[in-house]
Amino acid sequence: AFEPLVSDFYGYHNLLSAQEKETLAALRAYLETEVKPLVNDLWERAEFPHQVIKRLAELGLYRFAWEETKTFENSAVFRGFVALELARVDASVATHVGVHNGLAMGSISIAGSAEQKAEWLPKMAAGEIVGAFGLTEPDSGSDSAQGLRTVATRDEATGDWILNGSKRWIGNATFSDITIIWAKSAEDGQVKGFIVKTDTPGYTATKIEGKQALRIVQNADITLENVRVPEALRLQNGNSFKDTAKVLRLTRAEVAWASVGNSIGAYDAAVRYTKQRVQFGKPIAAHQLVQDLLVKSLGNITASLAMVVRVSQMLDEGTQRDEHSALAKAYATARMRETVAWCREALGGNGIVLEYDVARHFADAEALYSYEGTREMNTLIVGRSITGFAAFV
Ligand code: FAD
Repeated sequence: AFEPLVSDFYGYHNLLSAQEKETLAALRAYLETEVKPLVNDLWERAEFPHQVIKRLAELGLYRFAWEETKTFENSAVFRGFVALELARVDASVATHVGVHNGLAMGSISIAGSAEQKAEWLPKMAAGEIVGAFGLTEPDSGSDSAQGLRTVATRDEATGDWILNGSKRWIGNATFSDITIIWAKSAEDGQVKGFIVKTDTPGYTATKIEGKQALRIVQNADITLENVRVPEALRLQNGNSFKDTAKVLRLTRAEVAWASVGNSIGAYDAAVRYTKQRVQFGKPIAAHQLVQDLLVKSLGNITASLAMVVRVSQMLDEGTQRDEHSALAKAYATARMRETVAWCREALGGNGIVLEYDVARHFADAEALYSYEGTREMNTLIVGRSITGFAAFV
């Protein structure tokens, strides 16, 4: 049965249907029993638990959002709670889902033709093939709307596209079966998306080593040397970066939800620990300044949760715009960064040791804060909306 999280202080779970709650309960049971025991060790070894893909697919995680694959009507608030539950246990596993389901399947759902959706989404929903999303490049991160160097040239003889360039930071890409590659068309200078099968000659992905956040996520550098992609694999409704941005609008809201989950993971551990740890003859949770750390953390979690709930409701109402999800992403990840630091502080020295279940959330926060648009870029998207001036072009 579904147990509301105590850190959902204002009871937003009341917005969920019985079926949504049941689905979340099944997800939580799986994560708590089979994933949580593994993650500190996997994090240390920077390894991905490939076995989760099949189970997450069975739990329906890659199908809820898409018309072609969903098994029951569900709300964006529910899908946000899914991201929260994942990140509460491990932000890397949440990121894996965010990349495969949100970014890769989302690209096909938003920019693909009916035939492309019918061909790819069911296989991806079943976890039979794994997707990645290649937008960022070594020399183009925040400016990827205009600065992409990867070029797609049309081969007039066959109608195929030839991709040349490189990508950096691409999650899931050490093992993905397909990677959505965003490239500038040599024909019209517009950004177009391509479903690239990773066994295509000229495509190579190399794992990025030495990360100190989200170590379980497998990020890769990709090189594309004369990679030939048939026109049938070009996303047929991806005509400019505006279409890429439609995908990012959805996934940024989900990252905001995941950042609330990541905060809750650290907060729950801090509450548990401070009730047990005794100093000056009483549990440290009984000291006023320790309570202050916990209450400030809960305040951040509660304010962020209110924001992400509303931004998801706006998606379902059809009123969500880029600046709405950009504000939620910038705000919730900034609050998460404060929260995980306060929770770490509440554990003293043990706060930096993996087994106390705060250090991982603390480190992972840094990547959530910077990916899918840094706080600065999401701030500038909101700034453009409220002032009418685009400060970043
Ligand atoms: P830069 O763009 O070089 O920015 C560096 C700093 O300069 C930032 O603080 C930035 O805010 C600031 N800055 C830049 N321009 C301005 C400006 N105009 N005004 C003010 N400040 C500015 N990308 C993908 O395509 N697919 C993925 O799956 C993926 N997964 C990722 C996973 C992880 C763990 C990480 C760390 C990154 C991932 N990324 C992925 C890339 C991510 O989206 C980029 O790192 C992010 O967009 C920032 O780009 P950058 O790192 O090149 O930083």
